[in-house]
Amino acid sequence: MIDWCAQILDEGAMGTVESSMTKVAVSEALFRVADRCVQVMGGTGLTGDTIVEQVFREIRAFRVYDGPTEVHKWSLAKKIKRDALKGHADGQ
Ligand SMILES: Cc1cc2nc3c(=O)[nH]c(=O)nc-3n(C[C@H](O)[C@H](O)[C@H](O)COP(=O)(O)OP(=O)(O)OC[C@H]3O[C@@H](n4cnc5c(N)ncnc54)[C@H](O)[C@@H]3O)c2cc1C
Repeated sequence: MIDWCAQILDEGAMGTVESSMTKVAVSEALFRVADRCVQVMGGTGLTGDTIVEQVFREIRAFRVYDGPTEVHKWSLAKKIKRDALKGHADGQ
């Protein structure tokens, strides 16, 4: 998805839909991986003894600071609704 989105941006398009979709999918996938790493390591995963706690904390923040998932989904929903209404008006 990152390659797909980067290619669209490289071609000069705004890529707002593609970047929202990619940010949601990638940030949530990364979070699931980091969360499983903590779980597998048990208590050790929550200490500063390994890098896992730092990665988990930073990935968690990523789901907020690059636009919360809900805001990306809200923006995608608005676009889908706009396109559907336009298609309806155009008789499609
Ligand atoms: C470490 C860090 C770095 C940052 N760097 C930057 C930066 O470089 N540039 C920049 O511009 N900003 C930056 N920010 C700000 C960041 O973009 C905002 O924190 C983020 O957009 C969320 O806004 P908020 O914190 O006001 O939360 P709010 O807008 O109050 O949202 C809180 C929660 O409410 C829910 N929510 C909000 N809106 C909706 C909606 N429409 N529909 C459904 N649910 C919703 C979501 O679950 C969301 O997580 C940074 C933040 C952090 C923590």
